Amino acid sequence: MISLIVPIYNEEELILELIQRSVASLNLTGQDFEILFIDDGSTDKSLELLLNCQQKDDRIKLLTLSRNFGHQAAYTAGVDYAAGDYVALMDGDLQDPPELLPEMYKMLADGQLDIINGYRKSNASNKSRNICTRLFHCVFGNISNLKEVQHIGNFSMMNKSALNAFRQLREKTRYLPGLRNLIGFRSSILKYQREEREHGNSKMSMKNLFELALDAIFSFSKLPLKFCLFMGVLGIVCSFLAGIYILLSKSFGLSPLGWSSTMTSIYFLGSIQLVFLGILGEYIFRIYRESQNRPIYFVREFYNKNVNAAENE
Ligand code: UDP
Ligand code: MG
Repeated sequence: MISLIVPIYNEEELILELIQRSVASLNLTGQDFEILFIDDGSTDKSLELLLNCQQKDDRIKLLTLSRNFGHQAAYTAGVDYAAGDYVALMDGDLQDPPELLPEMYKMLADGQLDIINGYRKSNASNKSRNICTRLFHCVFGNISNLKEVQHIGNFSMMNKSALNAFRQLREKTRYLPGLRNLIGFRSSILKYQREEREHGNSKMSMKNLFELALDAIFSFSKLPLKFCLFMGVLGIVCSFLAGIYILLSKSFGLSPLGWSSTMTSIYFLGSIQLVFLGILGEYIFRIYRESQNRPIYFVREFYNKNVNAAENE
């Protein structure tokens, strides 16, 4: 069976089209399937629409979270509840086309591969968030310890062995494309054009995207720490050179160094230290969050006709 996991947060305009296109595509695989929607605390009619569809079609399952936890947590909930042998992750805004699912399944089905990652072909859109996303992918691809993570988002499909490994990663700082890469296995990419959203607005604000980017960088790269170390060493070298200069100018009886250079270096060193404290603070915050060990999400209800029917028997 194939499980398709779709997080939903206020997507009332496109749920019906989403379901219709997903069902049509999954039918083409010739396999049993379930579509597992995760309602991430929607406040519009999404939940009502999903419940309606779930009542009519027992292949549609619905997990409602107790509030909005963000889409990385929603995907995690889906991964935990999926019952399939193949599990696909797909955004609910149709930017990831469901029509690619049969091809992803075909690539996995002959057993040579474990994970298929959707690879976003560069699009010409100049919207500022697209430019920021591209910039992030470029930087992250170069600084992370992971290989081939550029242009890869959530859209993907994996088999049971990859899924079992993926489920074991319970860290709170979650950047799923990175975590999927971290587990290894035999993976390949499927290139696709990521279209603009046709209905509704992006539910990830620039602030959310920025936080996700920071999570990705702090959990998969040592760059922030290396940067501190590099600046620290540079500072030592500079002060050593300055020390020599001061000694020489003193011994040759040149005029004493002025007030401005003293003030500049105090400001410079002070601000560098604040930046470093900020970076260390980010690490401490992440360590703190891990040590609190709060669950990644809370489930309000799991609507699954098959389970309910089995319970009633
Ligand atoms: N989403 C979610 N919780 C959130 C934000 C988004 O479940 O807090 C869902 C959203 O409904 C969509 C998917 O995650 O199905 C991707 O979100 P979006 O399209 O807003 O992100 P973008 O494509 O702009 O990065
Ligand atoms: Mg989107």
